[in-house]
Amino acid sequence: MHDLIIVGSGPAGLSAAVYAMRAGLDTLVIEKDPVSGGQILITYEVDNYLGLPGINGFDMGMKFREHADKLGAKFAEGTVTSIEKVSEGSDTKAPVYKVVTDQGEHEAKTVILATGASHNKLGIKGEEEFTGKGVSYCATCDGAFFRSKVAVVNGGGDVAVEDAIFLARGCSKVYLVHRRDELRAAKILQEELLSLENVEVIWDSVVEEVKGDNKVSAVTVKNVKTGETKDVDTDALFVAIGIHPLTEAFTGIADMDDNGYIIAGEDGATSTPGIFVAGDSRKKRLRQIVTAVADGANAVTAVQDFLVGKS
Ligand code: NAP
Repeated sequence: MHDLIIVGSGPAGLSAAVYAMRAGLDTLVIEKDPVSGGQILITYEVDNYLGLPGINGFDMGMKFREHADKLGAKFAEGTVTSIEKVSEGSDTKAPVYKVVTDQGEHEAKTVILATGASHNKLGIKGEEEFTGKGVSYCATCDGAFFRSKVAVVNGGGDVAVEDAIFLARGCSKVYLVHRRDELRAAKILQEELLSLENVEVIWDSVVEEVKGDNKVSAVTVKNVKTGETKDVDTDALFVAIGIHPLTEAFTGIADMDDNGYIIAGEDGATSTPGIFVAGDSRKKRLRQIVTAVADGANAVTAVQDFLVGKS
């Protein structure tokens, strides 16, 4: 029986692990992938984390994991499928939760849900068929396959603009297709993007279809203002249209909003005593590495408060 189980090993989970180890809590981190780091692993460059300007996302993930390892955090692999309450808590007794994974079960007095978020899909014709054959959700993973070729990026947020800038370093031409006439991404990223000669933004437009034979050869783009459609020849489509929380397994254990984000304040306390949330899967305004890391620290502090005087 652990004091705390942390589900997820992205920045929120690893930050929570560091704080939990320093607090002397018997802690287990459950991670679904063999490599810790979460979404940052597929981020080429992180330029807004204090003190580490321009760090590669993978290197950052490794640093975070090393820190948790150095303090002796224990890790187990597995995808959590459900969390069940084994016994109720009281003023003097902690509740007991069973965390069920595809590789076994673990018990703890408290749980921090830090499973983060994953990319959205477009749901258009050809998207699924050509995934891995030109359609990708990760420019840093797959961009190198399209060196000296043409790529289309869809989206207008930080990820889409970062992806387009990254791809423009190797591709002959990059189109950024965005559904409005204004980008959502940070101003500094927009300026860099618009200064690149081999990048063209296709404004007010959506990607309607992916075409090809064995691999992507074009995408159909529709202007939402004029209704006009055209085919843009390309070797790749990088979809970067936002994220959704990975919280399906926690339905019923913590209250969520309509989009599946778990409802909790800054202390991470959910609607269920002893269950906390940290990172991108928490309902909040700003989802960044720095806010995920802060969430992890806050949640462990709340866990400590919760466990005081409970056996
Ligand atoms: P995002 O900020 O939610 O942006 C999603 C973009 O996709 C928006 O421009 C949106 O258009 C567009 N979009 C959404 N659904 C669409 C659809 N069905 N068809 C076409 N376009 C669609 O998502 P993100 O860029 O993935 O970023 C996710 C989070 O991570 C954000 O909070 C972001 O700030 C954060 N992030 C931070 C960093 C960093 O700190 N360095 C780096 C990357 C990401 P509209 O603009 O019209 O809504």
